[in-house]
Amino acid sequence: MASLIDTFGRLHDNLRISVTDRCNLRCFYCMPAENVEFMPKAELLTFEEIVRVARVATTLGITKLRLTGGEPLVRKELHKLIAQLAVLPGIQDIGLTTNALLLEAQAAELYAAGLRRLNISLDALDPTAFQKFTRRDGYDQTLQGIRAAQQAGFDPIKINAVSVRGLTEDQIVPFGHFARETGLEVRFIEYMPLDAENSWERDKVLFASEILERLTQEIGPLEPVPDQDPRAPATDYQFTDGVGRIGFIASISQPFCLSCNRIRLTAEGKLRNCLFSQEETDLRQLLRGDGTDADIAAAIQASVQAKKEGHEINTARFIQPLRPMYAIGG
Ligand code: SAM
Ligand code: SF4
Repeated sequence: MASLIDTFGRLHDNLRISVTDRCNLRCFYCMPAENVEFMPKAELLTFEEIVRVARVATTLGITKLRLTGGEPLVRKELHKLIAQLAVLPGIQDIGLTTNALLLEAQAAELYAAGLRRLNISLDALDPTAFQKFTRRDGYDQTLQGIRAAQQAGFDPIKINAVSVRGLTEDQIVPFGHFARETGLEVRFIEYMPLDAENSWERDKVLFASEILERLTQEIGPLEPVPDQDPRAPATDYQFTDGVGRIGFIASISQPFCLSCNRIRLTAEGKLRNCLFSQEETDLRQLLRGDGTDADIAAAIQASVQAKKEGHEINTARFIQPLRPMYAIGG
């Protein structure tokens, strides 16, 4: 079988699919506060088109899919898409990243469709801070969504919290206790330059090492989890008493570009070989024109071949992409 190996020898087996750019929150690090211009619905890939891209991608060695957005649960009948993706030959693993506001109502049908892995975004363990970061209400709904997911049997469920200096320090210790009490892994993600308002600065990133130190001081020592997948973006730790797991996605302080195995499809069918790419490949044009599966495969391969070595955020050469996170798919 063909495989997606780039010019730096990295094998790509992971496709992230954004199903919408719409969202029911307005997280300050991702979306504008008001007057968001969403993509017209006719521009979004249909389920049929998404499944076609995923099927072609499996012939190139893609084995893992993750659905994201925007908020993927605002896309109607998402479970029907998952059911079609789950049975594609070659797909070993499907995950979903969600803010969980709509999860309580959908957990059972998503599980029945074949979804097992959930990453749930939650930056604060109190409603006031939640409102400040997301610029909407929804804290209770998110917690209800997490509980519903546990009851439905999802495993693993990981909690993603973005770490922003001067804002999220107060949440570190509560999240450490939350991880220990619930058994859910909490992953701290360093704030990346993908906000809609272009207000990211390196000084605003709360580094993984500082969070690790704080947890160690205030709760107890942590040790790296043995035998981790070296290509996973998160580095996982556990408290040495065996209770509670914490992950760090240290995209800024410890970039993991050299082991990147991911490509991304935006909701309107643009393929991106990096979160921070300046270039995109228009797959929708092939899907809605007379492109054959071989044409789509060739376009995916060409995109991977053009992938750069790394994101260069820590250099003066870095230019923030025009698309904010919600329009890419995180
Ligand atoms: N709406 C869903 C959610 O929030 O989980 C899925 C899409 S969201 C864009 C995916 C992930 O990207 C979330 O965990 C979010 O916290 C993260 N994210 C968004 N903007 C970010 C930024 N500027 N830096 C770091 N992580 C970011
Ligand atoms: Fe919406 Fe997720 Fe972006 Fe927050 S991070 S605004 S929930 S897409």
